[in-house]
Amino acid sequence: MSSCVLVIDDSAAIREQVVRTLKDVGLFEEYCEARDGLEGFKTLIESKADLVICDVDMPRMDGYKFLQLVASRPELLGLPIIMLTGMMDFNSKIRGLEQGASDYLTKPFDSGELVARVKVQLKIKSLQDELKKANEQLKRLTNIDHLTNLFNRRYLTEVLESEFFRARRNRENLSLVIIDIDYFKNVNDTYGHQNGDVVLASVAGLAQKQLRAYDSAARYGGEEFVLVLPGTSLEGGKMVAERLRQAVLEFAFPSPMEDLTLTISAGVATFPSPSIDNIDSLFRQADEALYRAKQTGRNRVELMDV
Ligand code: GH3
Ligand code: MG
Ligand code: MG
Repeated sequence: MSSCVLVIDDSAAIREQVVRTLKDVGLFEEYCEARDGLEGFKTLIESKADLVICDVDMPRMDGYKFLQLVASRPELLGLPIIMLTGMMDFNSKIRGLEQGASDYLTKPFDSGELVARVKVQLKIKSLQDELKKANEQLKRLTNIDHLTNLFNRRYLTEVLESEFFRARRNRENLSLVIIDIDYFKNVNDTYGHQNGDVVLASVAGLAQKQLRAYDSAARYGGEEFVLVLPGTSLEGGKMVAERLRQAVLEFAFPSPMEDLTLTISAGVATFPSPSIDNIDSLFRQADEALYRAKQTGRNRVELMDV
């Protein structure tokens, strides 16, 4: 059942007839009414109606103006609006459809036809909603690494590009942390590949916990992760990486890995700096810092050369 219908007409008799017809078949839970386009628009915003039935000719604000107002609000895109028009008035029907109406009904209308047309619009709306949901799900799946639920490498590139340009435009810092699990091959060799996967997912979970709303974490490769930290200085990036290093070190892995003490190494770089003026150099500097962390004993966070 759809929840709310809004009926806009300056004639109380027509409003009552429409509402009664729809109530008889129980298509909605809630019935809202308004006397003209302006009142209708206000009621629409408040009620979040799922479908609108709207007269064309009304005082103060007519049906066309109402359609224009609805079209100006992106969140109302796809809202079904059935116009009520005079019997022979083809031009107003065409104009209404061109301005965003989904359908029209001719006055005086037949109850059966009203119900049938409302049902068609509700069906279209529900199919559109399903399609939108499926698209969002698909988009999510193409951006996410299924093992860790972090962004994948492909999407990281997109995130980094938009964050880099935003940082440059707003003259803000952008920090990048590259993380690599130490001796991860040993984990696979000791506990098997499946437990290795559990470790990867656990480290990803710990990484996610460190993030603020605008930060992003991605799985960059097998056991490598990247954090993108907008508005974060080198010091700030170091703090995030250190917190994660500590969290991984202290993490109690599930059976049979109770004895596993895992460590990570990390490299941090920050834009802007004399040696960083694009995404490639930001990455290179973080990667070189990570390399130094590995060379100097692992279980460490190293910063770019400044
Ligand atoms: P280092 O401290 O120098 O980083 O040593 P390491 O053993 O971590 O690094 P190395 O690059 O030699 O090994 C990475 C291992 O990660 C090898 C590979 O089999 C494993 N790996 C990559 N992807 C996955 C995955 O999806 N699941 C599991 N379980 N292992 C993976
Ligand atoms: Mg590696
Ligand atoms: Mg490694």
